[in-house]
Amino acid sequence: MALSSKAFNDTVEVGANTNQQNKQIGEADMKTIKQLGILLSCLSLSLLATAEEAKKPELGFATTEVAPGIYMLSGVGGFTGGNIGLSIGDDGVVMIDDSMPPLLDKMKAAVKSITNKPVDFLINTHVHGDHTGNNKSMGEDGTRIVAHDNLRINMLVKGLQTAEGKKPMPKAALPVITFSHAMSFHLNGEDARIFHVANAHTDGDAVIHYKNANVIHTGDTFFNGMFPYIDINNGGNVDGYIAAQAKMISVANADTKIIPGHGPLSNVAELKTSLAMLKDSRAIIAKLIKQGKTEQQVIDENPLQKYHKDWNWGFITTEKMTRQVYKSLKQ
Ligand SMILES: [Zn+2]
Repeated sequence: MALSSKAFNDTVEVGANTNQQNKQIGEADMKTIKQLGILLSCLSLSLLATAEEAKKPELGFATTEVAPGIYMLSGVGGFTGGNIGLSIGDDGVVMIDDSMPPLLDKMKAAVKSITNKPVDFLINTHVHGDHTGNNKSMGEDGTRIVAHDNLRINMLVKGLQTAEGKKPMPKAALPVITFSHAMSFHLNGEDARIFHVANAHTDGDAVIHYKNANVIHTGDTFFNGMFPYIDINNGGNVDGYIAAQAKMISVANADTKIIPGHGPLSNVAELKTSLAMLKDSRAIIAKLIKQGKTEQQVIDENPLQKYHKDWNWGFITTEKMTRQVYKSLKQ
C-alpha cells in the first residue's frame, strides 16, 4: 500500500507542476489534467492490486534439483503433504512419497515437467495419508510400491479412512515389495540404501540414503524447524525418534543434503539442532515424571517453554509436544 499512495501522489504532483509552469492553461484544461491524474492513479492502484494477487502463489509444487538427477518436490501456496523425492536417470524413475488425493493432477504435472518417463518404483516412507495418499492411482498406473513390512500390515489392518467410513485398502494402493531392516536400489548410478528406523514417527518408517549423491530423504523422522509429530498410536516413540535422528547423523557429513518429511531442504547442522532439542525435551520431561508428576501437572508447568518461539506450530503445539513426549516415556 505504501507503493500505491506514492504512485497517487506522483501523479497529482504532475498536475500541480503543470499548473505552475503553464500560466496559459485554462480551468477546463486543469480539470482534465487532474482527472487524468486521478485516472492514472486508479489505474496504477488496480495494477498494483493485480500484482498483489499474482504474488500469492497457487497451491502446487516447487521443484528443486538437490543433486544431479535427484529432486525434491515441496508444497507452495499451502499444505500439499510431505516432501516428495525423485530419482530420475537412464534406469528409470524412483519416487518417494506421493502427497494427497486432491493434489494428484498437480503432483503428476510436476513430475512430468521433469521427465516423460513413467514412475517405476514408489517408496512410502510411512503410512500417513499425506505421504501415501495417491498410492492407488500410482499402483493403477503400474508403479511398484515399496515400503517397510509394518506399513503394509498397517494398511491391511486399518484400511482406508473415507468420508463414508472405513473401507478395505484398495489392492493397487498396497506395497508389493516390503523389507524388514534394509534394502538397496541399484539404479541411476546410485546405491540407494533404504533402512528402517524402529518406532520413531510410526512403526513403519523408512529412510532413504543416496550414498553417491550424498542425499538423505528422512520421511517424517525429521520435521525441519518445527516440533515433530510422534504418532504414538501407530507405534511412534520419542526414544525411537531420537535414535532415528542419531542414525541419520551417523551416515551424514557436513555436505549432506537432507530432504525432511516437512519443511525446507536441510542439512546435518539443522538435524543436529533438532536432535539436541529432542534429547533435552526428553530429559526435562523424564525428570518431571521421576518426581511423580501427572501429564496434566507437567502440562501446567509448561516445561518446554524455552522452545516455544522457535519450534511451536499449528499442528504440533508446545503443549502437544509435551504430551507426546510424556506419553512416550510412560509407555
Ligand atoms: Zn507422517
